[in-house]
Amino acid sequence: ADGVDSRMYDYGAGKSAIRTVYEQTTELRQQGVTDFWDYSIGNPYVSAPPEVNEAIREVLEEYDPIDVHGYPPNNGWLTTRQAVAANLNRRFNAHARASEIAMTGGCAGAITSTIAAVTTAGEDVIVPVPYFAEYRMYIQAWNCRCVEVPTLPETFQLDLDAIERAIVPTTRMVIINTPNNPTGAIYTEESLKKLGELLRRKSKELGQTIYLLSDEPYREIVYDGKQCPWVAQYYENTIVCYSWSKSLSLAGERVGYVWVPSTVRHAGRVYDAILGAQRVVNSICNSLFCRVIERCVDLPAPVEEYARKRALLFDGLTKIGYEVVHPDGAFYLWVRALEPDDDAFQERAANEERLYVVGSDDFAAKGYFRLSYCVSDECIRTSLPAFKRLYDSYGG
Ligand code: PLP
Repeated sequence: ADGVDSRMYDYGAGKSAIRTVYEQTTELRQQGVTDFWDYSIGNPYVSAPPEVNEAIREVLEEYDPIDVHGYPPNNGWLTTRQAVAANLNRRFNAHARASEIAMTGGCAGAITSTIAAVTTAGEDVIVPVPYFAEYRMYIQAWNCRCVEVPTLPETFQLDLDAIERAIVPTTRMVIINTPNNPTGAIYTEESLKKLGELLRRKSKELGQTIYLLSDEPYREIVYDGKQCPWVAQYYENTIVCYSWSKSLSLAGERVGYVWVPSTVRHAGRVYDAILGAQRVVNSICNSLFCRVIERCVDLPAPVEEYARKRALLFDGLTKIGYEVVHPDGAFYLWVRALEPDDDAFQERAANEERLYVVGSDDFAAKGYFRLSYCVSDECIRTSLPAFKRLYDSYGG
């Protein structure tokens, strides 16, 4: 009995499959090995736009160091929140106000604080599968149940019947992520509208608010001229979590926000509870980057770069014979594994061809693997012969 909390120990020592693979490839790099291909982690590949560094310099010149490096307000600087609200209003006619936005340490901070704020131990949070595995931890850490529901086969769109079947009196929240990590699916307007109707009807029937947490860090990374529908317009009890980790390649700076629209039931209480949770998990936004974002909020995401990588890898793999889900957004490919046991497939890919991929187990799914195309074009090109040999080794 060493007093170590077994759940926290498991989160720390168990690691995710993504991190485990990433550590293996880091080790290879340290040994000077170069002939391997690392498709494991969604660490942005395109550099942050130069305007970000310019903004850092401007902030350092314009503000007193005490102001830049001291504590910001727990919800972030007012002028930053005003800039974020203006951005949402211009693009989505969102009717957002600065007082409804709290700056956070990335999307992860926004999500875990929101779950902490509006759930009670023993309640259920529904997540469509496959999903970003960290959700499970964010949910279970607050003693809630992570209830996994399937998505539709092949398209990986929302299965509304499955969500309806999963809703019980202890349901408090549904989390969706569109564009989706790992499938790249953008949920259709029709399905989001129906989801809103379903949650409205069920909230009424059960006499309690079911919140929709919309996790949107890939919102701008969309292809072929597609648009990701603005989720919050379809359901009044939507809470939006966002970060610039992906869209401006600022994952290491820990800068994001949560927006609680005024339409959310008891919005003011929910907002204050999120600020309370923020104090507990200490996911307060970095002060300097709050100021930087204020200047960079309207910059576009590097969609062209990722679109080129997506095409290179998608076309290369499908030509070989792999069954790849065509992604409409984010920067991942979801590919059918060449054997039912995706762990065994992941191992074989690494051991035989030094292709480091992530099996679908980590996303609570079976029989697929994920490739993050946050890699160089050269990496994609040189990896294709290895993917071909792997495919052939399974008998084509
Ligand atoms: N949500 C999804 C779907 C993600 O893929 C990620 C990161 O990969 C996050 C949230 C966490 O984002 P952040 O780095 O901004 O905390």
